[in-house]
Amino acid sequence: MSDIDDGLHTPVDAARGIGTPPVDALRAAGTPGPPVGGPAFDSDHPPRADLVSDCVHCGFCLTTCPTYVLWGEEMDSPRGRIHLIGQGLSGEPLSDSMVTHFDRCLGCMACVTACPSGVRYDRLIEDTRAQVERRHPRTARERALRTAIFALFPYPKRLRLLRGPLRAYQMSGLQRLVARSGLLQRLAPTLATLDSLAPRLRGVPRPPARVRARGARRAVVGMLTGCVQSAFFPDVNSATVRVLAAEGCEVLIPPGQGCCGALSVHNGRRAEAQRFARKLIDTFERCGMDYFVVNAAGCGSSLKEYGELLADDPVYAERAAAFTAKVRDLSELLAELGPVAPRHPLPLTVAYHDACHLAHAQGVRAQPRALLRGIPGVELRAIADPEICCGSAGVWNVLNPVPAAELGDRKAKAVLATGADLLVTANPGCLMQVAAAVRRRGGSIALAHTVHVLDASIRNLGPAALLDRD
Ligand code: SF4
Ligand code: SF4
Repeated sequence: MSDIDDGLHTPVDAARGIGTPPVDALRAAGTPGPPVGGPAFDSDHPPRADLVSDCVHCGFCLTTCPTYVLWGEEMDSPRGRIHLIGQGLSGEPLSDSMVTHFDRCLGCMACVTACPSGVRYDRLIEDTRAQVERRHPRTARERALRTAIFALFPYPKRLRLLRGPLRAYQMSGLQRLVARSGLLQRLAPTLATLDSLAPRLRGVPRPPARVRARGARRAVVGMLTGCVQSAFFPDVNSATVRVLAAEGCEVLIPPGQGCCGALSVHNGRRAEAQRFARKLIDTFERCGMDYFVVNAAGCGSSLKEYGELLADDPVYAERAAAFTAKVRDLSELLAELGPVAPRHPLPLTVAYHDACHLAHAQGVRAQPRALLRGIPGVELRAIADPEICCGSAGVWNVLNPVPAAELGDRKAKAVLATGADLLVTANPGCLMQVAAAVRRRGGSIALAHTVHVLDASIRNLGPAALLDRD
């Protein structure tokens, strides 16, 4: 059998901004690929058959899956993708159609939360993606785009070099002109997507390598500064340091710490992710920290899986497991320690958006809400369909701009319908994605990270400090 007969569509679906061209065409163009008719997966960490057989095909996951919600097609649902993985394990070749359906998965893990049988779809798709990246030929355009993304996004120093030109572009008014003309959208949709996502940059000094606790020291905390977070949201990092110090934590922030590998591992680049993970462990295990704190949901979920990522590495396996045991999302750590810094009132209505990699991948939902409710005057409002991803999903919105914008628009509509003063979330990707979608709809709502709200309350800055943000 040469292909999966899902009766849906051709592999390339340019109108949706997604798709993978036929292997035959790529081979004709000289692009190497797996042997024709060979099995989909090789023996290097193939997806596990026992995890596939855990799926009882009940379909409880379908309505939480953003691609199934968008297109209503079985093979773009978790159950359909698990079926395709099973076909690959039974000897089917890795067809274009299969890869298209795997590529369309956002990795949001809403299906993992929804599944009553505890199917580890997260493990399945991660192992599948690593196989796809090694074994499936991609077009020259796809390869160029992926090369550019992975030569830039996991490198904070390179991202920081973009700050100056980007700030000049924003301040000069050129960005508004370009957006109004629609020219970039017509000529280079990927660049247009990046342009629309770019946040308004703020100048914030980098935190020092060590910040003492205020009052009695309760814990020593290593802190990840991140890639996108440190380049485009340095104010989130500085607020994190202030809040941790106010809550009695000594904060260690070694410079040159690099990327945690989240983007790489979520996109099938396992060897690259392992390199980043080893470097981060080397950097932090010398620090003598009690906890390792993360303020970006996507990074936190992959840091909590270092034990699995490096399980085969004789030098790092144990160290990775020990490191992982110390990893906490910022909200988890603050909830665990309990508050000591007094909270000042912030009379605000707040819509809290669950970042997928915090809620679904880490199961952290209650802690950020409890922290926000602990601030006098804050009233939380629920967002409809909270389990559906906003369409950011790491670099998924760059690789799949059309459906990502559709998911962003749905989320922006649900957020604006709350009538809240402020949207709060804990992931830089979600902040950029929802902000862009709100702007597209001509709507307006202030956006903040959870830690901005805590910081404003502890420092008694009043609601204007949050509402004047854009
Ligand atoms: S991870 Fe998200 S997009 Fe992928 S199958 Fe599960 S619910 Fe659907
Ligand atoms: S909810 Fe779980 S068991 Fe049911 S179809 Fe989805 S993945 Fe399979």
